[in-house]
Amino acid sequence: MNLTKFPRRRYTEGQTPIEFLPELTKVLGGPNVYIKRDDLLGLTGGGNKTRKLEFVVADALDKEYDTLITCGAIQSNHCRLTLSAAVKEGMKCRLVLEERVVNSYDKNASGNNFLYYLLGVEKIKVVLGGSNMMEAMEQVAEEVDKEGHKPYIIPGGASNPIGATGYVACAQEIQNQMHEKGLNFDKIVVASGSTGTQAGLITGMYGCNMNIPIWGIDVSRDKEIQEKAVYDLVQKTADHVGVNSSISSNAVTCFGDYWRPQYSLLNAGTSEAINMLAQIEGILLDPVYTGKAMAGLIDLSRKGVIKKGENVLFVHTGGSPALFAYQKEILN
Ligand SMILES: *Cc1c(COP(=O)(O)O)cnc(C)c1O
Repeated sequence: MNLTKFPRRRYTEGQTPIEFLPELTKVLGGPNVYIKRDDLLGLTGGGNKTRKLEFVVADALDKEYDTLITCGAIQSNHCRLTLSAAVKEGMKCRLVLEERVVNSYDKNASGNNFLYYLLGVEKIKVVLGGSNMMEAMEQVAEEVDKEGHKPYIIPGGASNPIGATGYVACAQEIQNQMHEKGLNFDKIVVASGSTGTQAGLITGMYGCNMNIPIWGIDVSRDKEIQEKAVYDLVQKTADHVGVNSSISSNAVTCFGDYWRPQYSLLNAGTSEAINMLAQIEGILLDPVYTGKAMAGLIDLSRKGVIKKGENVLFVHTGGSPALFAYQKEILN
């Protein structure tokens, strides 16, 4: 894979750290846990969408678009970061927000919602849960077009082959760091939502011949549905970046046991994980993605599915700005 053929903007200086988590490792008494600090990526507040946007926004600029349109949930890290990239590039940005939990939208809410306004969003449109988001964004694009600007639509989570290329690049970065530090990982664990992160990592690791399983912890869907969605993007991304041999669907493993009762709503394991990581490692997780993913890692370690003595890398995909919209639920 030669990613230099794609236009790319750079939003992070250097590599994000890989750190050992000694206290979590002690508490779990099983695997050695490492963390890839993608919560420290560039753009406002960091997180995984920054890597995807390096390729997606570069594509938009390359084609001379001037307005980014994207969508997400009401506390969307992806919307915050797309807006941040637009600010940095001197572009405009409009958001379509999906109210996935009935009556949950509050224009004055904290967290990412507050940051939309602080970052100077041009326009926000809120639609009901279950709406066709692509259609809603196309309507916004028509408005932008009528106003004489050039709209570029980014799908939810920037999870298309161009965006997932950011995590193909991340797989190369992890490979470098493994060489530099003399580390080997038996497994990589990551939150799996709109699928671009897990699909990009799977494609990238395969393309690097690394043979490390990438386990996704679902945040919104059951196992089989998520695995199918991830595999679909793996195939498209492999094609896009030029991985020659075909990747088997066996390369995709997801766990659907940790996301309920619903996307973006806390459960006991998630609360435990958020409090634990804050109090023993000083690391902030988030309630929607990384808290659920870490709850999965903890449970799979306790059950011995992730085995004693194995080295496991948790990819911290960010999201801590959303914590500030969940203060009461988390400090229980
Ligand atoms: C979007 C997001 C994810 C999920 O990544 P996908 O590529 O959508 O699967 C995980 N963590 C955080 C903090 C996110 O914002």
